[in-house]
Amino acid sequence: MLETPEQSAAGRFDTVLIANRGEIAVRIQHACRELGLKTVAICSEADREAPYGSTADRFLCIGPSSAAKSYLNQDAILLAARLAGAGAIHPGYGFLSENAAFADAAEKAGLTFIGPTSSSIATMGDKISAKRAMMAAGVPCVPGPDTALPDDPDTIERIALEIGYPVIIKAAGGGGGRGMRVVTKADVLQEAIALTREEARKAFGSPSLYMEKFLEHPRHIEIQVICDDHGNAVWLGHRDCSMQRRHQKVVEEAPAAGIVPDIIQPVGMACVQACLQIGYRGVGTFEFLYEDGAFYFIEMNTRLQVEHPVTEMTSGVDIVQAQIRVAQGHVLDLNQGDVTCEGHSFECRINAEDPDSFLPSAGVVTHLALPTGPGIRVDTHIHAGYKVSPYYDSLIAKLIVHAPTRAEAMARMREALAGTEVEGISTNIPFLRALFEDGAFAQGETDIHYLEQWLKLRRAA
Ligand code: ADP
Repeated sequence: MLETPEQSAAGRFDTVLIANRGEIAVRIQHACRELGLKTVAICSEADREAPYGSTADRFLCIGPSSAAKSYLNQDAILLAARLAGAGAIHPGYGFLSENAAFADAAEKAGLTFIGPTSSSIATMGDKISAKRAMMAAGVPCVPGPDTALPDDPDTIERIALEIGYPVIIKAAGGGGGRGMRVVTKADVLQEAIALTREEARKAFGSPSLYMEKFLEHPRHIEIQVICDDHGNAVWLGHRDCSMQRRHQKVVEEAPAAGIVPDIIQPVGMACVQACLQIGYRGVGTFEFLYEDGAFYFIEMNTRLQVEHPVTEMTSGVDIVQAQIRVAQGHVLDLNQGDVTCEGHSFECRINAEDPDSFLPSAGVVTHLALPTGPGIRVDTHIHAGYKVSPYYDSLIAKLIVHAPTRAEAMARMREALAGTEVEGISTNIPFLRALFEDGAFAQGETDIHYLEQWLKLRRAA
């Protein structure tokens, strides 16, 4: 598509500060370099020796090991951007990626925040206002009001009765699988409200709660979107992230098995419409629960997701490059008709943790072998001799495969996992190998509780 001079803001920045660490810092550097952009890496004291620093054009240590004093230190990051002459900040995922105040501060400091506007982040960051915006845009939501719960116990009880038990109480500002409580009967409702309110106040700085129907056997299915600043938006197919432990995703795949185009098409188009309606810019993910043939919106993530590679493999779109290009002001060079998803892709999150207790495992990687072969991709920041620090998330690598069919992709993942060796620390690789031998998983369409039940059975055996 041709761009007018106004639209073509290419060159608005030529240096990107990556406000993150680990595998995603490496992934964003690749995208920047391929687009001809310079990179500035930042680190905490614990990451001084991290290899992603030596591959960047500049590498600045911005604070002590604790994330609160480094990767979450907005002033230090903005100062680093100024010192290094960066014109843009890519927040990656986690840390400050969904912090509306940070996006605003970056823009006020004259930097491009590679993400949506701070007001989009704020709207979607509050799960109640997100639900309201989605209902208004015609996106199907989980039954329950799009308003915060009042204080009055009688009114709360009436709302629960109207929805019908079981219900789930959620913190409006919640995230990371925290701040949620399932209630199956009326006599424990008030206590559950009090506990969740207190948790929400402490963890998210706001006691605001809402209530919705608790779906008992849903799958977690999400839709990837990308939008530019010129009124164009497309969706890039769907992913299934139902393999979760404690609400945390462990294995993701694209497309979601057994979802026929007729049923997903209107949902994808509703997401695109919602983006246009709220003036969304950049990449985003609409998360849905799917049960008995119906989709229910739960939240939107206004950033790049950990699992974006499975969509890159099936759609052929480099999502990180596309994200940076729209932040530069380019018109999206993709129409919905151009989007075709082919084959099947899986991603395994390789974590530095005990495969049985799931406790984090820090230490030095004494030996590392990574798999090679057709359709295999590894996104990682580690190498033999790398010291896994106890300070941050335990994700050390993402193993991604792509093959023509789901069964072939599963076989390829088994092969990739067999070729992955990490010594010196514990990892969840043995657990992932066992999971990819499981018959029900191989059949597909397992729900969000499947993994926990599978682990329970495994422990009992
Ligand atoms: P977070 O922002 O903390 O990740 P989400 O709203 O995305 O919270 O929910 C995380 C997970 O919690 C979902 O993937 C699902 O497993 C479960 N969950 C959330 N809402 C419901 C619901 N209404 N019914 C059943 N499970 C739910």
